Amino acid sequence: MEKLFLVTVDGDLHTAELPLQRESLQVLLDTFEKTGAAGHITWFVNENVHDFTRNHPDFLHQVIGRDDVLGVHDHYEPLGDIAEFGEAVEFSRRSKERVEGWLADNNYPSSVRCHRNGCLVQKPNIYRALQELGYTHVSEIVPGDVRKDHNRNPALDNSDIPPGINPYRHDYDNFLDYTSRLGHFIQFPAMEMFLNPCCEDGFRWEQMRRWDEAFANSGVETACYLWLFHPYEVMDQQRTVMDWEIVGMLEEILTSVQSDYACKFVNIEEAHQAMVGG
Ligand SMILES: [Zn+2]
Repeated sequence: MEKLFLVTVDGDLHTAELPLQRESLQVLLDTFEKTGAAGHITWFVNENVHDFTRNHPDFLHQVIGRDDVLGVHDHYEPLGDIAEFGEAVEFSRRSKERVEGWLADNNYPSSVRCHRNGCLVQKPNIYRALQELGYTHVSEIVPGDVRKDHNRNPALDNSDIPPGINPYRHDYDNFLDYTSRLGHFIQFPAMEMFLNPCCEDGFRWEQMRRWDEAFANSGVETACYLWLFHPYEVMDQQRTVMDWEIVGMLEEILTSVQSDYACKFVNIEEAHQAMVGG
């Protein structure tokens, strides 16, 4: 079984201090370089909140230069619990046009097709809006998880989805059907979220073992393990300085994924290629 490990980073920065924002992004870039993951990372930038195209152009140049994948991360809490279709289209159009405009202005291929919803919110209206805008690659499903958004409204209920799920296709209204093999979207389920300083080594390895076992039992030839976390997680709790102990944990996790679990790092586009056979 070929094991693909997707490191995905949601660009929530949780500080207004630009130098600290920049440092956290650069530390992640450096850590990925050091651990052999550079070029195989998927970044979902929160343009609507953090103006990456204005505040972090150097970061974006590095992301594109090393062939990481650039996607967009939109938090829909300002739209309330309902998130009307039209409002969701306009909200996400703004971030998409700004990111694609920046790419075009800098003579890069400008089409962005990867998107992740803030708080992993899963709603037909929002997926329909993403389809309207041309997004195809999404990543919100967390098998077994139930959670709320930052407004305490329901964000997702994936309690009926088992661990060890590979990417699957769906349309805007059947995103929970992990057996679906057709549809506009390709969904990349997440095995694990966050760096967990509460765990001794920063990662819930028991989750990795559960997915490993589920994939082995299912007999798949290729298995995708996807992890998501945020730049603010490598800062201290007050978001005032970098937490170098956590950065060290991240480095060890990325090393262990390769040496102990025989995983290969891939970004979302590379995983898509591998799953559909090139
Ligand atoms: Zn977020």
